Amino acid sequence: MQLSSKVKKLPKYLFAEIDEMKRKKIREGKKVIDLGVGDPDLPTPKHVVEAMKIAVEKVERQKYPSYEGMLSFRVAASEFYRRRKGVKVDPEKEVIALIGSKEGIAHLPLAFVDNGEYVLVPDPGYPVYHASTILAGGIPYHIPLKAENKFLPNFEEIPEEVTRKAKILFLNYPNNPTAAVIDKEKIKEAIDFCIEKKIILAHDAAYSEITFDNYRAPSFLEFDNSFEVTIEFNSLSKTYNMTGWRIGFACGNEEILRGLLKVKTNIDSGVFEAVQEAAIAALTGRDDVIEQNCRIFAERRKVFVEKLREAGFEVEMPKATFYVWCKVEMNSIEFVKLLLEKTGIIATPGIGFGEYGEGYVRFAMTRSIEVLREAAEKILEFSKSLNKK
Ligand SMILES: *Cc1c(COP(=O)(O)O)cnc(C)c1O
Repeated sequence: MQLSSKVKKLPKYLFAEIDEMKRKKIREGKKVIDLGVGDPDLPTPKHVVEAMKIAVEKVERQKYPSYEGMLSFRVAASEFYRRRKGVKVDPEKEVIALIGSKEGIAHLPLAFVDNGEYVLVPDPGYPVYHASTILAGGIPYHIPLKAENKFLPNFEEIPEEVTRKAKILFLNYPNNPTAAVIDKEKIKEAIDFCIEKKIILAHDAAYSEITFDNYRAPSFLEFDNSFEVTIEFNSLSKTYNMTGWRIGFACGNEEILRGLLKVKTNIDSGVFEAVQEAAIAALTGRDDVIEQNCRIFAERRKVFVEKLREAGFEVEMPKATFYVWCKVEMNSIEFVKLLLEKTGIIATPGIGFGEYGEGYVRFAMTRSIEVLREAAEKILEFSKSLNKK
């Protein structure tokens, strides 16, 4: 069967060999420490699970949900924005529910991008921006995020013929995979750029609440005129350890939200209402569950980064996210394979996030501090053996 030309254009799966090596290690009964996937090991807060138990027993919850999400959920999302970000969003018009933020990100280009139009995609970046552009018939234009620019985009380097035909700019701060954060000046620059060029500013705020050392990640919707062009994607996955529950929301410009919703009404049928009720409990519940999460991730990354530095790696102490982005002096896939072979530790090669991710690997701090300490010790030994060669 012939795949569609769009599906054929999707990037090759790079990790087949690494996956096979991992399976082999496990088959042989060897110990594997998986720091590859960004999926928190910490539990969903108890009050959220309790709310779900009650909601799931209500007969009225069994029916098709509304497309845009229950009003009570959208009110909870707007209350969360007011409380955590100091931003006012209208729950009736400026918020919609998503089946995880990935769903909304994947559907946005379908709503706004025509054949041959560009989407500006950060590189390295979350792979969905590139893939969803291709599936919509658009052309991804990769904006390099370079260490010398603190992994921030340089809009001046984008050619005029690209910006003229660009419909969406994806940005993601705090950033996966680099763990970089954005300053207010750069946010203002992005908003002005998008207003001037008539581009949708799609900000992926999946890690906005996972911040450390008194750093607070600004919402793009805090800034003047941002509502003219901005849609901000939010996820409960990382904030409340709810990756499997599949719920998120988008807020911002009403017209952009309506376009996205138009696509969604033709593809999905909304989020299970019991899950929305649990999400309301999360969004309106105690903030100390978020702070406790952050304290745990902060301590883990500190132990891990200090050990990597001792091993001679060039690595920043992240202000946010649960990732550590580490420079390596060889091909990133080769490094990951060798590391897995010698230590049983799984990392993600930077090239998997785009060509500008080459030369780096990503470690996820999604295991206990004891396991991470053990992993870091093994990496230290591993790097000594590398240097001897
Ligand atoms: C995890 C992640 C998402 C997806 O979150 P869901 O709400 O679970 O779909 C989106 N963007 C980035 C950058 C992520 O790392």
